[in-house]
Amino acid sequence: MSPKSHPWGAPPWSPDFRPAPGSVPDQVDFAIVGAGFTGLSAAARLCRLAPKKSVLVLEASSLGEGASGRTGGLALADTAAGPLPGLGDVLASYQEILHELAIVGDLELPGVFEVGRSNPAKDSPICWNDAGNLKVVRSVPGGAVDPGKVVAGLARAAEKAGASIVEHAEVQTVEPSSPPRLRVCHRVRGRIQRKEVRGGQVLLATNAFSLELSGLNDAAQPKLTLALATAPLTATQLKAIGLASRRPFYTVDLPYLWGRLLPSNGMVFGAGLVPMPTSIASLFERPARKGAQRFARPNLYRFDVRKGQAAESFRWLENRVHHLHPALKSVRITHRWAGPILFTEGMRPIFRLHPRSKNVMVLAGYNGHGVALSVYLGQWAAEALLGRRSLPPWG
Ligand SMILES: Cc1cc2nc3c(=O)[nH]c(=O)nc-3n(C[C@H](O)[C@H](O)[C@H](O)COP(=O)(O)OP(=O)(O)OC[C@H]3O[C@@H](n4cnc5c(N)ncnc54)[C@H](O)[C@@H]3O)c2cc1C
Repeated sequence: MSPKSHPWGAPPWSPDFRPAPGSVPDQVDFAIVGAGFTGLSAAARLCRLAPKKSVLVLEASSLGEGASGRTGGLALADTAAGPLPGLGDVLASYQEILHELAIVGDLELPGVFEVGRSNPAKDSPICWNDAGNLKVVRSVPGGAVDPGKVVAGLARAAEKAGASIVEHAEVQTVEPSSPPRLRVCHRVRGRIQRKEVRGGQVLLATNAFSLELSGLNDAAQPKLTLALATAPLTATQLKAIGLASRRPFYTVDLPYLWGRLLPSNGMVFGAGLVPMPTSIASLFERPARKGAQRFARPNLYRFDVRKGQAAESFRWLENRVHHLHPALKSVRITHRWAGPILFTEGMRPIFRLHPRSKNVMVLAGYNGHGVALSVYLGQWAAEALLGRRSLPPWG
């Protein structure tokens, strides 16, 4: 499916890397499920720390088709729940990781505006109209990154360090035996190959998908969220809307809105949550019928955001953008897309061993705050899989 015809729409970037074609082996030391920021970061770290071990990344769709390729790209500090005990400095580590893996992700950290309707800063450069007056409340550490370049860079670094990344390989079940056995449905040139892989240890980095697999059905809620990009703004428009400093922003009052500038001077805005239809989500999670020849492409990806409630939410977002400031009144919308977010209790990430197997680790649930955190915790997961670091107490 070309990105343009994807039922979830497409952002203005895409990863410029495709893994070398490969097959699904019978046995590996480490099997990572999910090739988003989390899984790819863990794979790169595992290979660097344990170059003699085999590392396999299985991706149901293609690189970046989950949240990581569809994210807003705001690199934020800490977690959605704030700083957690022993978390460390997420942003500084994120910068170091990108540097160590030689990833040119266009990361810039000028700070991020928190924008709200009360207690505005005296010199707020922003004055927008959105259910009241929105002004800068304060600036917090952070900035933005090119998500396509980071997905591609992590995948490239992982593969270069020795990991095999297999796309269109959906893990349908993980048996909690020792070692765990993964049943994989791999589509190769339109044909289905069913394989069983024995993975010494497994990391489930499947985010808002496959909740039965990760055991998160009762612990987390998947949603789709929406984003759009505009045509480039002029310097006068940027000055008028108060974003000449190129700082991204997010609102601290509801209705939520976030945004950031692209290198082209187009703006990306995002807001709104659409329920992931559970029937579709559970179809995705259900193992394909025995003997079925049709590839069990994640059915969730067939959910068309150009229709129904999602289409209405896009119209609502577009209308908000056009009415934020007179300078944005007729700005052209060039891209519209949606992506998955996993919400958890207390907004804390889930980072723990699977309840049914001590050889299976689960890392997910960043509550829309995972750009820097997923890469950082992916590395931590690799160290924990190698027994070099404990899991955090809050995970
Ligand atoms: C529109 C949008 C805007 C966002 N904006 C920001 C932001 O500005 N700042 C911020 O910090 N965070 C933001 N986020 C959140 C951030 O993007 C995510 O937290 C992060 O990308 C999660 O990475 P991940 O690798 O855990 O998950 P994903 O990138 O979703 O990766 C999971 C992968 O697992 C694969 N998979 C699932 N099940 C299986 C299976 N059974 N077998 C094989 N593969 C499987 C999926 O296909 C997917 O590729 C945003 C998210 C969205 C959707």
